Amino acid sequence: MSTDLPADLLAAIARNWGFATLRPMQTEAIRAVLAGRDSLVVLPTGGGKSLCYQAPALVRPGLTVVVSPLIALMKDQVDGLARNGIRAVRLDSSLNAGEANTALDAIRSGEIRLVFVSPERLVNPGTHQMLRDAGAHTVAIDEAHCISHWGHDFRPEYRMLARLRDYFPGSSVHAYTATATEQVRSDIISQLDLQNPQVLVGNFDRSNLTYRVLPQSDVVAQVREVLDRRKNEAGIVYCLRRLDVDTLTETLKRAKYKAVAYHAGMTPDARRKSHDAFASEEAEIVVATIAFGMGIDRSNVRFVIHACVPKTIEHYQQETGRAGRDGLPSECLLLFSFADVMALRRIMEKSATEANAPPEFLNATRNQLDQMVRYASGAVCRHRALVQHFDQVYEPENCGACDICLGNTQDVPDAATVAKKILSCVARVSEGFGANHVIDVLRGANTASIRSRGHDKLSTFGLLSGMEKAEIRNCIFQLVGQHALVQTEGDYPILKLNETSWAVMKGTHSVRLIETSATGSDAAEATTLPAGCDPDLFELLRQLRRELATQLAVPPYQIFADNVLTELARCRPTTLERMRVVSGVGDVKLRDFGESFLELIRNHSEANALATDLPPPREAAIRVPISGKLSPAKALSFSLFREGMSLEDVMRRTKLTRSTVSNHLADFIRAEKPKSIDCWVPKKLAARITAATAEHGTALLKPIFLALNEEVSYEDIRTVVSFLESK
Ligand code: ADP
Ligand code: ZN
Repeated sequence: MSTDLPADLLAAIARNWGFATLRPMQTEAIRAVLAGRDSLVVLPTGGGKSLCYQAPALVRPGLTVVVSPLIALMKDQVDGLARNGIRAVRLDSSLNAGEANTALDAIRSGEIRLVFVSPERLVNPGTHQMLRDAGAHTVAIDEAHCISHWGHDFRPEYRMLARLRDYFPGSSVHAYTATATEQVRSDIISQLDLQNPQVLVGNFDRSNLTYRVLPQSDVVAQVREVLDRRKNEAGIVYCLRRLDVDTLTETLKRAKYKAVAYHAGMTPDARRKSHDAFASEEAEIVVATIAFGMGIDRSNVRFVIHACVPKTIEHYQQETGRAGRDGLPSECLLLFSFADVMALRRIMEKSATEANAPPEFLNATRNQLDQMVRYASGAVCRHRALVQHFDQVYEPENCGACDICLGNTQDVPDAATVAKKILSCVARVSEGFGANHVIDVLRGANTASIRSRGHDKLSTFGLLSGMEKAEIRNCIFQLVGQHALVQTEGDYPILKLNETSWAVMKGTHSVRLIETSATGSDAAEATTLPAGCDPDLFELLRQLRRELATQLAVPPYQIFADNVLTELARCRPTTLERMRVVSGVGDVKLRDFGESFLELIRNHSEANALATDLPPPREAAIRVPISGKLSPAKALSFSLFREGMSLEDVMRRTKLTRSTVSNHLADFIRAEKPKSIDCWVPKKLAARITAATAEHGTALLKPIFLALNEEVSYEDIRTVVSFLESK
């Protein structure tokens, strides 16, 4: 490990966690702890925050106190540490008297270095005095954004932590969160009274996640599309209300999916049952309210579906961040509807009134929801939009992992003209009206408001009469999202123009508009195991992990994370020494589980004549998708197309959606220029499509689709068009 951290610390990390390298930011965050300098560490979910306070605790005498908002999270950390051979205890209301006494004895005797405490417990005078007497020198606050009511998951108990300084004079305080807005950040610093803190903000992009937004139509069908594609994989489905959660869970259960519900209206007992079922991999799907997702983490969550719009982009980042914490490809789908936005707005208004919140608070939450709406209806790369929201720069031109960049959206025909019409209409109504009125004018509606103002005499009246209301609204949102149009804040948002608007009207600036109601616009990068990983072996390893987990009554991911299993299934070690090299295999796990896994690997490799003891992969510190290079999923599709496999068969083999596979096929045809496409489109049909392109060109698929009376699928059109373009 190339860092200047103390050798004993690095040795402890290698021995206990089995990590040979530290991630970006971890080194600096650990250094701040060792130096006793207050710090605020902002890393996305799955970024590796816990190691930052756990590892330094091991190599110093005295105690590190960790404050965490949920008992489930604390229990998980204490159990996980135990699996790695590290003893820690927790103090919270769930312990019985015997357990609490054992914990207290362990603390007083100086046997342990890490104590997890709930905020309520910590503010109890007896507790913090005892911890101080036992030599507490460092305090770590996990999920520190819970202290800020600007953030999501605000917890009143966290406010009591403002007195930490008094409880632990001389100790350093370290805050950890995945929420990166400036407001929350400064709130954490002031609430916790951090002194000259070192602020460390990690890279916010989660390159292993694929983001997509689809217009909500039939939620159950849309959710099932994902579940069917991802059989036996774990996922979370977020709904708006408790009732939605219960209904969807019931529907899914009736259709034989292994789903459980999770929301604040359930009894603690029922909730624990759901939690345990999900953690133990007995249930694969959790349906939860957006207000209540914390604590249902599992590192191998492969998909997160939002069946409703999240409240803010921070929520969205946090909630989708629960997918793919192990670094493997995972998917995030947002089913967007304006009806949900309205409902959410009403809920927010109601709870603000009930809580007597100041008006600026309600305004702030409304604006945050607007930002979310803009994200959802925008035509900007999702990775870029998210990263920019957190004030970071996104380098890649094409992320290769969102619906926009994968080309799974359909462009609005002649976007420039549509944009010009909308913007000039805003100009004609003197920048004094909101979206609804502008839409009415553009559609040529016969309303009293339009007649009384003489807006039916405007040159822009009825210019977009052929478009649906929702379509125009989406275009307006997209223009706002691309900063080509301004929507004022407040109760009655007005549309206004800016410099970019005029540049668009003059034709010196171009915008992109996508159809949010397009059919077949779904795209997903499904799980494709890392290159070289034997899928059968991976399944067998998972099965073994489940068996061991059941025997030991621990959640499977505490034995090994999925990324450890995929690496084992790739390099196929046959000796303990070889297995030890795999990242995430520490000494204790090697001792406890090594032989069982090795035996399985040896047998399977021998039976299937697989090479064993392959060298470790080159460490890829930060994976940035390189445009032009094939993703593993695409490479697999390409190899199947080369054999002439049909679209349906490739779908089955790759678990990808029809439209993604169709896009792969189009790219394949352009890249490898096959002589014929007969195995994908029958000759006669291809001729028909080709004829239509003579008149409509190949730039857009929709005109061809319409010219063929909507009888031919977009997939077939795309295949033929790419073939024509490849020549
Ligand atoms: P966070 O608390 O930021 O959400 P975690 O601390 O739970 O993230 O870590 C996420 C995952 O990353 C865990 O599976 C953890 O074992 C793994 N991890 C953390 N640090 C490293 C590292 N240096 N090398 C490899 N894996 C790591
Ligand atoms: Zn993108």
